[in-house]
Formats: sequence, structure tokens, C-alpha cells
Amino acid sequence: MNFNELGLKQEILTAIAEMGFVEPSEIQAEVIPYLLNETGDVVGLAQTGTGKTAAFGLPILQTIDTKSKHTQALILSPTRELCMQIATEMSKYASGMHGVHIVAVYGGEDIRKQLKELDTTPQILVATPGRLIDLMERKKVHLENIQYLILDEADEMLNMGFLDDINTILEKTPEARRTLLFSATMPNEIAKIAMNYMKNPVEISVGKKNEAAKNVEHYYVLTKQSTRYEVLKRLLDYYPDIYGIVFCRTRQETKDVAEKLMVDGYNADALHGDLSQAQRDSVMNKFRLRALQILVATDVAARGLDVNDLTHVIHYNLPDDRETYTHRSGRTGRVNKSGISIALVTPREKGAIKPIERVINHPFNQMEIPSGGMVCQKQLYYMVEKMQSLEPDKKLERYMPDVVELLKNMDRDDIIRRFIALQFNQLLEYYHNSTDLNASVQQEIKSSRDSKSRGSKGSRRGAGIDDEPKKSRRQMRVVDKGDTLRLKINRGRKDGFEPKRLLGLINDVTGDKSIKIGDIDISPKFTFFDVDKKCVKQLMQAFASSPRAKGFIIGEVKGNR
Ligand code: ADP
Ligand code: MG
Repeated sequence: MNFNELGLKQEILTAIAEMGFVEPSEIQAEVIPYLLNETGDVVGLAQTGTGKTAAFGLPILQTIDTKSKHTQALILSPTRELCMQIATEMSKYASGMHGVHIVAVYGGEDIRKQLKELDTTPQILVATPGRLIDLMERKKVHLENIQYLILDEADEMLNMGFLDDINTILEKTPEARRTLLFSATMPNEIAKIAMNYMKNPVEISVGKKNEAAKNVEHYYVLTKQSTRYEVLKRLLDYYPDIYGIVFCRTRQETKDVAEKLMVDGYNADALHGDLSQAQRDSVMNKFRLRALQILVATDVAARGLDVNDLTHVIHYNLPDDRETYTHRSGRTGRVNKSGISIALVTPREKGAIKPIERVINHPFNQMEIPSGGMVCQKQLYYMVEKMQSLEPDKKLERYMPDVVELLKNMDRDDIIRRFIALQFNQLLEYYHNSTDLNASVQQEIKSSRDSKSRGSKGSRRGAGIDDEPKKSRRQMRVVDKGDTLRLKINRGRKDGFEPKRLLGLINDVTGDKSIKIGDIDISPKFTFFDVDKKCVKQLMQAFASSPRAKGFIIGEVKGNR
């Protein structure tokens, strides 16, 4: 199938060709001709990342009257991020057309700015339901001439409690409109909306109803409760080029896991509801740009984060409901790219897998937790591959003769060995005596069986002793006293401050994990710590300017300690 066969006009075809679209996705191939040639309503069921925006967006652009100044299409979407994305995406499709005005309005931004943008009436309005109602009450939007009403990610909108708002909005739009509803899943409430507000809609679904994207492999790993974090790290180490989301169940868990990962030297950050909008934007941007490899997030906060091509989705804990699982795993395995979804479950949580398999209509496979040896091998190959594809800087040439001269008495293998050791000794050291995490969970299963068969009802919960190495491997924070300066920060024991928090905070504020920190001493109200002299300025500047350092004051400790 080719885009030319769908009946789209040339300006649009050119624009999407420039965006690199070659073939229409399944949902586009079905929905676009239907919208262009028929008049009925549509319920479209398709996973995230299947190209729904173009499926409805292209026919809308083709059919609106660009000479008219009325609002002709209203697109409702659950989050601010999605609204912005849809508006941006649609503007790109319209780049070859004249006189198309698209505006996005959403909560969480100063309404005055949006009021101003609405001074010129847009033909296409993209909105979150809450903000739209607000603007309707202020009589700043005009829905009398709406021809298309699109409910995008309808299931998400319901999850977010927008049902009443949606009903209010639907009642205020003309009866003669065409209504299109898109959703990844089809819960009863959606069927109700379809019944009440749509006219004999055709259902166009891609793949089976409620089925997770096909090109996702679903795995679970069995872990003990007490080794959950250790297992996560093992997995992250096993996939050195991972670009993924670690889903947690609560804000607190999200914060804890992210903080630990940061202290342990991973390129990770947290996304949760306790962050300010500016902080959330900044994390999301870093993640979008791949400046951040691992995002630790709650389901709510990750909603609307559009990131394509995740290599992995990791469920640090499984969600309570199965639809959430579908959403999470739908973030990997996007258009033509396969992805991996891995759930960490304890033996007692394993029962949750079966019902999910039924919903996604796809089996899970058990994945063994990679052994330390496997991780080392994988990392080594990864490094060799990276080395081979690297383009050495020309500036190196002038030093080469000297270096070659210095190494001339060493044989090739020995040189390789030593260069690898430079990079790898820490990792090897860490994994050398690492626990076999598979065996440790098997042991737990066995002993729980034994205790059951002895008739003991004793729960093993909370009995888990953390038997994992406590060392955080990538953290190199020991410095020579002579090269350090003593600083203090206005948080101490009374604030629950501890060394880990300090390191996490410094990582967070500076975004630089190489800053070396020496001795840390905590008094009731202050924490004193040694910092590599070379990094003091950078640290001070970061604390003075980063929003994340709000409320923290860092100063030099004068004189002797
Ligand atoms: P959905 O709304 O179904 O989650 P989007 O409309 O946001 O999906 O599209 C996901 C990504 O795929 C976007 O970056 C979009 O530009 C891209 N995309 C959409 N259709 C195509 C296509 N036919 N070929 C290539 N990329 C596409
Ligand atoms: Mg979408």
C-alpha cells in the first residue's frame, strides 16, 4: 500500500513524504479512505505508536475550509503533552498548505497566553477537556461550526476522570458533527459514549481488541522481594544500550528507585507527580533527546509522554489493572521495531501474569536473571563494538608516535588486556562474587514449600535479608585530601539527610556523576563534605542556578574542620 492510493491531495503527500512517511500504517490505510469517502462515525482501536494522529489528522486537513475562520475540528486529548504533540504533528502535515491555523490549549499553562492565541479563531483546536470547559465558560471558543470531533486516547481520558467533562463538551457541539473516537482499549464506559454520542460508528481495529502491540516480547523474571532492586540493576547492566522506562507503582517507590540508580551511577532520573511542571518538562525533554537513558516513572506521570522506539519497558512492580500493563508495554515495540517488556515478580505475585496474558492475548516467557558472567560478557562485547565503530579524533595523531614508542615492547594481547582492564576492572570486581539471583529465589520458593508442607503458616514476608553486595559500582568518589575543599550544606540528620541523599542530590543538581566527593560528616543541622577542588566552581554554580537545588544552600567551610 502506498500513500498515493489513499486519495490525499498533493500538498499533504509532499509534506508527509518530507517527514519520511513511506507506507501508511494499518490504521491509516483503513481510516483515511473511510473518512475521505464515507460520512459515518468511527471507533478506532489501536495501540499507541500506530500512527493515529495522521489517521484522523490528514483527512481533516484535506476537508476543512481554510478560507473560513470558524473552528471546524476539535480534538480532545488527555494531557498537555499529547495536545502539544498533536498540534505540532498536524502543523507538519499542513506545512504545504496555506491559511491553516491550529491551536492547542491545555491545563498547567497560564490561560492568558492561550486566550491571546485564540484571538484569531483556529480552524483546528486541540484541547484537554478541563481547560476547554474553562474556555467555553469564558466564551473564548466557538463550537457551533464543529464538523469533526475527535476523542483521542479516549480510555486515558476516562482513566483521568474526564468523563463528565467529555459529556458536557459533546452536548455543546452540533448534532451534525462527525465523531471519531480512538482508544487502545475498549472498556464499557467507552462503549457507552459510543452508544450515546455517536451515530452507528464503524469499528476499525488494528490487531485484536485489547491486544498489546505484536512486536513486543513479554517476559517476567522471578525475584525475591529483597533482591528486586539488585535484579533491576542486573537487567540494566545486561542491556548496556537500553533506552527505556522503569515503571513503579507509587511516587515514593519511583523516587527511591531513581535515587538509588543515580547514586549507583546510572543515567537515570525520576518522573512523578511531586515534581513541578518545569521539572517534569526538563526530565521529559532530556529523555526525549536520549540524554537520559532510563526513566523511572509512575503510570500517571508517564501518561502522554510521547517517546518512540523504547528498547525496553521494565515493570519494577506490575500494575493493579491489566489495561495499564497494555499501555506500559505499548511504549516499546513501535512501528516496525521490536521491543522487550520485562516484569519483575516475586513467586507470590506470579499469579498476576496469567490474567494479563489473556488480555494481551500473548504468552509471557520466563527470563532467567543474567548471571554476573553473562553481564560482563555482554558489556565487553558492547564495548568492543563501540570501539570498532568509533571514529578516532584526528587530534590524536600528533601523540601517536610517542605512544606507539612507549608501548613497543608490549605484545598486542597484553595491550588489549590492559586497556580493557582500565574500563572494566570495577565491573569485573563487582560481579566476580555476585550472587546467583536465580538460585536465591529458587531457594526461597523451595523453603516456602517446605514450610508449607510442615504446616507452618509463617509468612516469609519481611524476613528477607538483603544479602547483596552493598557497593555501588560506578561510583568513584574517593579523592585525595590535598585536592579537596570542605563544603557544607544546610541539611542534616534532623532533616533525615544521609550520605546517599547528598550524592543523589549532587548528581541531580549537576547532572554530572564524575564530581568526586570525599568524606561526608553529618551533624544535626548541616552536612559537611569534601569535594574535588576542580569541581567546586561547577558545583556551586549548579546549586545557584538549578531549580532542583531550591532551598539548598552550599557554602565553603572556612578554616580548619
Ligand atoms: P499514536 O497516536 O497511534 O500513538 P502517533 O500518531 O503519535 O501514534 O505516531 C507515532 C509516531 O510514528 C510519530 O512520530 C509519527 O510521526 C510516526 N508515524 C506515523 N505514521 C507513520 C508512517 N506511516 N510512517 C512512518 N512513521 C509514521
Ligand atoms: Mg496519539
